[in-house]
Amino acid sequence: MIIDSIQAAIGQTPIIRFTHREFLEIPEGSAVYAKLEYLNPGGSIKDRLGVYLVNEGLASGKITQETTIIEPTAGNTGIGIAIAALAFGLSTIFVVPEKFSLEKQALMRALGAEIVHTPTEEGIIGAIAEAKRLKEKYPNSYLPLQFDNLANPAAYYQLLAPELTADLGDDITSFVAGIGSGGTFSGVARYLLERTPAIRLIGVEPEGSILSGGVSHSHEIEGIGVEFLPTFLEDLPITGYATISDFEGFALTRKLAKEHGLLVGSSSGAAMAAALTEVAQLPVGSQVVTIFPDTGDRYLSKNIYSREDY
Ligand code: PMP
Repeated sequence: MIIDSIQAAIGQTPIIRFTHREFLEIPEGSAVYAKLEYLNPGGSIKDRLGVYLVNEGLASGKITQETTIIEPTAGNTGIGIAIAALAFGLSTIFVVPEKFSLEKQALMRALGAEIVHTPTEEGIIGAIAEAKRLKEKYPNSYLPLQFDNLANPAAYYQLLAPELTADLGDDITSFVAGIGSGGTFSGVARYLLERTPAIRLIGVEPEGSILSGGVSHSHEIEGIGVEFLPTFLEDLPITGYATISDFEGFALTRKLAKEHGLLVGSSSGAAMAAALTEVAQLPVGSQVVTIFPDTGDRYLSKNIYSREDY
């Protein structure tokens, strides 16, 4: 396969099938399918969003050749936007709460981005506020704001969901996926609902996220969990939320690496934990689909595969 730019390698990721042979929780005759988004060139599902946001910004005139793109991000969206921006020689500034992994910050810098830190205690809300302040300082800047921008779910509706149905058909019992901005979950869920109105939709969050009514507190699982209800989830017929502890999420992340060769991040472990609970309670023959959003090698400094406490 010959490509003319790395952006052309984004998408068309494989889907791995797990059955009773790999996980005893999966009833014989049922299956869990995980889309391996960590195999995108930037190591995450957010490569798709980066390309979509930059193309949409250029098409609508919000981005020109002189534009600096500014965005609050835990890292993966920044990496995705930076890769897309490079194709057009655009500058990028990412506002990142200090707690997020050093590797993600190093990767954003490697792609030419400038990083601005905000205090961990202020969470993503603090990063959003700082990004808005920065936008005022840069006259020709564009702030996509993935948390409010409908281009975010649209990217997954248009670029990811059709790949799922192309490979799996419309016979999907449940869609189980982590929620950060909610873009992936809502974009894919809306697409699948149009084809399979009875589909079950399970949102995955870590303990410390507020979706199932819990109190907001810090957690180690990175990339999912919310401090406020994402607007994209409004009007979606969500079946329920799976709230996964750091212990459970990291245990599955380690198992996926050690027993299956899948070097994924902790939000993938959390998604797998939720998918296994879901499939175990469904009738034989059910098909549960989930997403493994990013690679684990960007969390090695956090001992993702070797922590004694999880
Ligand atoms: N997992 C990881 C590792 C992520 O970085 C993100 C995005 N923050 C998600 C899951 C959730 O994706 P979304 O923002 O589309 O809800």
